[in-house]
Amino acid sequence: MDLSLSKSQLMIRKNMRKFASEVLDEWAGVLDRDSTPLPADVVREMGRLNIWGIQAPAEIGGAGLDTVSYSIVIEEISRVSAAVGLGVTVHNSVCLAPLLAFGTPEQIARYGPDLATGKKIGGFTVTEPQAGSDASSIQTRAVPDGDHYVLNGQKAFVTNGGVGDLFLVAASVDPAKKSKGIAIFIVEKSMEGFEVGKIEDMMGMRGNMVSELFFSNVIIPRENVLGRPEDGFRISMKTLDIGRIGIASQALGIGTAAYEAAATYAMERKQFDRPIGTFQAVSFMLADMKTHLDASRLLIYRAADLKDRGMPYSTESAMCKLYASSTAMQVCMQALQIFGGYGYVKDLPVERFFRDAKITEIYEGTSEVMKIIIGNDIIREFNRF
Ligand SMILES: Cc1cc2nc3c(=O)[nH]c(=O)nc-3n(C[C@H](O)[C@H](O)[C@H](O)COP(=O)(O)OP(=O)(O)OC[C@H]3O[C@@H](n4cnc5c(N)ncnc54)[C@H](O)[C@@H]3O)c2cc1C
Repeated sequence: MDLSLSKSQLMIRKNMRKFASEVLDEWAGVLDRDSTPLPADVVREMGRLNIWGIQAPAEIGGAGLDTVSYSIVIEEISRVSAAVGLGVTVHNSVCLAPLLAFGTPEQIARYGPDLATGKKIGGFTVTEPQAGSDASSIQTRAVPDGDHYVLNGQKAFVTNGGVGDLFLVAASVDPAKKSKGIAIFIVEKSMEGFEVGKIEDMMGMRGNMVSELFFSNVIIPRENVLGRPEDGFRISMKTLDIGRIGIASQALGIGTAAYEAAATYAMERKQFDRPIGTFQAVSFMLADMKTHLDASRLLIYRAADLKDRGMPYSTESAMCKLYASSTAMQVCMQALQIFGGYGYVKDLPVERFFRDAKITEIYEGTSEVMKIIIGNDIIREFNRF
């Protein structure tokens, strides 16, 4: 069993680290402070680096990378700016990936190249004001009418909502059938009746324009249904399996940044005439941080590897998200403690890491929902009665 990264994966890590430190680092604090999106020229540069089409095939302008490499890209970006990491992971794993996995050749030809090159930014929206963890209870309705559907409803907390051009939207086509009556629609921002609502003023991830979306009699051609209309819920769940590897990688990036900052500071900062990192209480915190981050990375790479080998990975994806997100929170809390009062002020990025980390325990399924997924798997395995 070889747990080392391949030459190409190491090269991807090196290149992404260089890009993040040379380009994104300058923006990370600004995006957070002003709650503004990345400038268009940086978005374009990311397109040139294939960051908007990490796993998309080269024929449509993507990099065609494996999922471990995908995780590395998200980790490295999130290490510097988790908000940018969020936009990238959602675009790639819950918009472009399901388009490529479930789309028709026509849908892929029409939307794939612009998404894979970052000419268009994508999102995926299920959540509504009354439907969060219980995604099957969505109220957004798509009524069939001749060669199209008429879409009405409201979505909440849409990542990339304020800047996106194209969204995969879950809507009920048959409310009586609950989850079996949910379809996924490819919806373009330019369609009449599409409206971006309030951009959320958030605790963290402030550089992502997470927003409400409203649909008022939006005419959606039938050819914009992703997969079969009755398969929308199943597609959503499969999509989130992919997405959770990305969120776990994002959490790993945030946690790693906090750990590295804390370890560096602990060896520089002296109290009682010695570096605070040489006090056992502090070095034990660093030891826990390093160990849990490494365990997160291994869980993520295992889920990624299973996915690449075409094996089931739904439970492993939930496990890596559960573990990496709780590790990110714990590590950020300990990092802040190591920085003492300096961790609490905005001059240093540690408090931003702390604010950014929290949401990884909530979106793409809360930690409680991850435990439901893992628990159901255990029940299937052990409940013989
Ligand atoms: C920054 C941000 C970005 C987001 N991006 C997107 C996006 O792009 N697309 C999208 O569709 N959604 C997005 N979301 C929404 C996110 O996925 C939801 O917030 C999340 O799924 C939880 O739903 P909720 O907030 O309605 O909480 P609720 O479902 O109301 O849950 C509240 C609490 O109850 C617990 N709970 C609920 N049901 C159970 C249960 N059965 N057993 C045990 N505990 C339970 C939860 O774990 C949680 O602790 C985003 C949210 C944020 C804040």
